Amino acid sequence: MKKFFGHILIFLATIAPYDAMAQIITVSGPIEPEEMGLPLIHEHIMVDWIGADSTGHHRWDRNEIVERALPYLEEVKEYGVTTFLDCTPAYLGRDPYVLKELADRTGIHILTNTGYYGSGNNKFIPEGVMNAPAKQMASHWIKEFKHGIEGSGIRPGFIKISVENEENLSETHKNLVRAAGLTHLETGMAIVSHTGGDSPAMAQISLLKEMGVSPSAFVWTHAQNGTIPGYLQAAGQGAWISLDNIDGGTPNEPDGTGNIDWFVKTLLELKDGGILDHILISHDAGWYTVGEKNGGSYRGYTDLFTKLIPQLEQNGFTQKEIDMLLRQNPKKAYTIHIREE
Ligand SMILES: [Zn+2]
Repeated sequence: MKKFFGHILIFLATIAPYDAMAQIITVSGPIEPEEMGLPLIHEHIMVDWIGADSTGHHRWDRNEIVERALPYLEEVKEYGVTTFLDCTPAYLGRDPYVLKELADRTGIHILTNTGYYGSGNNKFIPEGVMNAPAKQMASHWIKEFKHGIEGSGIRPGFIKISVENEENLSETHKNLVRAAGLTHLETGMAIVSHTGGDSPAMAQISLLKEMGVSPSAFVWTHAQNGTIPGYLQAAGQGAWISLDNIDGGTPNEPDGTGNIDWFVKTLLELKDGGILDHILISHDAGWYTVGEKNGGSYRGYTDLFTKLIPQLEQNGFTQKEIDMLLRQNPKKAYTIHIREE
């Protein structure tokens, strides 16, 4: 009998880690992937552009930021949004306490991230860690995943890195990608990388593959700067294409429609190309800018619902296809699971 239970325990120990990992990690703790519902996959609550050498919690008033952002989160609830991925990295204004307060007040599931942001000439990476070995960087990010950010107990739900939008990756940025790969293999968090064009996207995908990380763990962020052949090539390998600058414009601007026409045309081409199941869309909007009076101008997160979706419907997109873009794809991309090549 004792032996029998022993076998059961070994069996449970083998399956338990996967089950425990098949979750979305929010600032309020893990949720089941099904609970993610309708997410906005790339937005911001706040940003501090001053740089890693000067930023810190002393630069902002948490209550002022919460009060400023709150109405915009309340507004998206009216469109059914249930989850919000905050893409502001460490040293650029990532504040888990602000996000937790907003999650508590609105009931929206909010995700934060771990990682370093390399573009902007590495201005947002502290000197002391910039040239650290990938393994050392990764161990810090993994520690945040396991134990929470800066003693808050609040855990990141994805990895956010950033590389320069250039033909070749610098050594520092290759190192960031390797650190992200190591962190993924240990934690199963998706790698969201501020990238831009085709070349740096392909370079990161190959680096990750060399490490045994599947491209399906990689979100090519700001892919609107890439090309259709690039999207087909990356998605063909399993990567996620993040078209994340939806902007409906304002009526009194000369081009009052923003980029909605571009989105419709591109999404139609991607549908024809058969890769709609690898596309993620969002606004990259917000945010409270630290150092500006009451955070400066703040762009809301609703153009997707008020301007883009009606156009997609008019252009023949079915409810099923819209659900795939808005619900199924994000759930697959951001559910914690290790994706090996
Ligand atoms: Zn962003």
